Amino acid sequence: MHDREEIYINGKWVKAEGTEKIKVVNPSTEEIIGYIPAGNKEDVDHAIKSAKEAFITWSKSGIEKRMEVLNSLSSLFKERGEELAQIITSEVGTPIGYSRTAMVGTPRVVARSYAKILETYDWEEEVRNSLIIKEPVGVCAFITPWNFPLHQIIGKVAPAIAAGCTMILKPSKEAPLSAFILAEIFDEIGLPAGVFNLVTGHGSEIGEYLAKHSDVDMVSFTGSTGAGVAVTHAAADSVKRVTLELGGKSANVALEDVDPILFAKKAIQACHQNSGQTCSALTRLIIPKEMEEEICRVIVERNDNYKVGNPLDEETRCGPMVSAKQQISVTNYIQRGIDEGATLISGGVGMPEGLTRGFYVKPTVFKDVSREMTIWREEIFGPVLVIKTYENEEEALELANDSVYGLSGGVWSQDEERALKFARNMRTGQISINGGFFNVNAPFGGYKTSGNGRELGVHGLEEFLELKSIQR
Ligand code: NAD
Repeated sequence: MHDREEIYINGKWVKAEGTEKIKVVNPSTEEIIGYIPAGNKEDVDHAIKSAKEAFITWSKSGIEKRMEVLNSLSSLFKERGEELAQIITSEVGTPIGYSRTAMVGTPRVVARSYAKILETYDWEEEVRNSLIIKEPVGVCAFITPWNFPLHQIIGKVAPAIAAGCTMILKPSKEAPLSAFILAEIFDEIGLPAGVFNLVTGHGSEIGEYLAKHSDVDMVSFTGSTGAGVAVTHAAADSVKRVTLELGGKSANVALEDVDPILFAKKAIQACHQNSGQTCSALTRLIIPKEMEEEICRVIVERNDNYKVGNPLDEETRCGPMVSAKQQISVTNYIQRGIDEGATLISGGVGMPEGLTRGFYVKPTVFKDVSREMTIWREEIFGPVLVIKTYENEEEALELANDSVYGLSGGVWSQDEERALKFARNMRTGQISINGGFFNVNAPFGGYKTSGNGRELGVHGLEEFLELKSIQR
């Protein structure tokens, strides 16, 4: 049982002023696995005060000190890797193998990548008679989601530390436990008091309060578009910097020269990774009309055999949805697809065979999807793939861009130049050609309602910097 009674403020574990406790549930067993404090506005005030005081010295800290902190963070993620992976699997339901690599391995690499960036980063440049100085933006508030809990946190915390900012983290209440371990790690490393503060609680209460607060210089939010809009409104009066990493409904396009079997085999995992609860999941398949039969045959075969179940079983590919609410939401989308006339070719509503408890859904695939249908337009955030055919490449591009979102995308072709030309015309922030791997040094973020600002790599660091021009 993970019973957390304290939050982390000014380098100390302290009892929260808020007295409510929030339960943490294992989505595969439906059992309560822990409690966290619901911090209140007073707790946020304490955390902001400590971050503001710490900024005075941390903003002037040496680059070597920041590199040391980031390298130690990465080493301690490695040391506590299995514990973190088990905890994230128990709160999110992520299959354990994926937890080890994506949920813990990636944050470990991201922390180290920022130490590496600091080795060569130029903090000053000369432009004619001006000296341009890059300085930390100030006190930052981080509001993060549950789907990749530690990764979303480190995508903000690591560059903020590198930049010399101080921070208050409010993680998701569905999957908050790894954030407590992160605070323990910072405590062990001896990060100066007040640089990192952790306050857990309800987003609509303390999240919005953080965004509104005049002593917070920047709010970096990852989550749903609706909550991101609320954060932006709350932040507006204080004219603070706001960066948003929001939802997606990304296209995966097969150009006419692809190997349909290879494409179909890869398409399932690109959609269903982390049980479909991935903002950058490739959930809309756009394929040549003449390949429909062959691609659908392979997809149905693989989707029917996509192993759903206990996330601690090493063979499992798809765990439960994070919560009963998410299970209901995904199920409703599947029903909506059926009701609106799409053809269900694999999966459907109801629990997967052999499972009687846990917030599971069946990995599902639809074809004959039209542009008006809800399942084409809205982010489902579950293992639901929709397939649409095209007659020519121009139509394929139009379909790929037919979304209010623009977070990610995929293009497949035997001719890389052809795929690259297509990718250049996609209105989206990340694109993989022929399954190109995720790169922790490349900027990650969205076009359109998928957000603004970028995380990771040098571009992610620069989100946390102010520019000062001095003319001589
Ligand atoms: P959510 O918006 O419900 O919650 C995200 C965070 O915002 C939580 O910490 C929550 O407590 C807080 N919050 C909720 N309402 C708030 C408000 N009014 N003011 C301030 N804070 C508030 O999202 P979620 O369900 O945790 O995550 C799923 C969503 O996140 C999906 O839409 C997904 O696409 C998106 N996401 C985007 C990225 C990305 O990088 N673009 C990454 C992961 C998840």
